[in-house]
Amino acid sequence: MLCVNNMNIALDRRESGSDLDFISHAHSDHTSAVRSSQYILASSETMQLLGQENKAYATLKVGDNAQFSLLDSGHMLGAKQLRIDNTESGERTVYTGDYKMQESRTTKRIEIASADTVIVDSTYPEPGMLFDDRNEVESCLQDWTRNKLRYGIVLFSAYAMGKSQEIIALLNEIGITPLVSKRISAANRVYRNCGINIEYASAYDDASDYESITRDNFVGVTDSRDVGGLGRTLSGIHEKRVFTAVATGFAKKFKFDTDAQFALSDHADFKQCTDYIDATEAKHVMTYGQCAEILAENLHRAGYAAAPLQASRKQVKQSILQP
Ligand SMILES: [Zn+2]
Repeated sequence: MLCVNNMNIALDRRESGSDLDFISHAHSDHTSAVRSSQYILASSETMQLLGQENKAYATLKVGDNAQFSLLDSGHMLGAKQLRIDNTESGERTVYTGDYKMQESRTTKRIEIASADTVIVDSTYPEPGMLFDDRNEVESCLQDWTRNKLRYGIVLFSAYAMGKSQEIIALLNEIGITPLVSKRISAANRVYRNCGINIEYASAYDDASDYESITRDNFVGVTDSRDVGGLGRTLSGIHEKRVFTAVATGFAKKFKFDTDAQFALSDHADFKQCTDYIDATEAKHVMTYGQCAEILAENLHRAGYAAAPLQASRKQVKQSILQP
């Protein structure tokens, strides 16, 4: 929890005693506050993706001496950073939420604001784990898909929100309209409403397109984790070989039980993290999330004044409140 002028702000998690719950984006590990909170701060796109568009989002109970603003984080549709300006002390603090520095097709580029303190996400804390050039990974994914499609069905497993739409955009670019699962289709409708043009077919939306596409070899995108089981089912129904794949940053760390894996990430690696901190010119760095301590340690070694947020709440509080 972050405290600004006696106002408790919960960052991407439900915490008792919070006056305001900030939800940076619609991924489920960040949205526990959505149903119970009275005061949510989130983008309208995030609330649409959560099916909460009618809720009075962004109901701000702003303290007298702080201003809040939302900045794009580059992670997925509607993903925002939270910037807090202490108008009394002049202290500027930015919390990144999930973020990346690289550009992608279905997400606005990250906005960088100067800050005194940044609170950075810690998903990939190790300096040795660096993502390859994104264009190269994207080309590999497109070439592999085109090639396998000559011999059978291609099936991707991806998060229903964010990664799926990115894969669909990459497939559209090489002339492929993929079939998608029900949850991906629901998220796609929000993306389209927000002006992201992606072409897809779904048995739940347009059965005629679905039937014509499945007459030939096709590409499917599913949010099911059991891509192997689904592949075997599809193979039985269509009497064709099915090639499975995942696209996730964790492909850089782990071996998946699929035919191919592409390290296409919507998170910052260590290099992007230090590039971000440098660009904000922040003097203090707080790390946040599951790997906060490891990231703080590694940043410290690299010469940054970094500490995990929870362990150093007092210092953060002081840093924000004191002029
Ligand atoms: Zn996320």
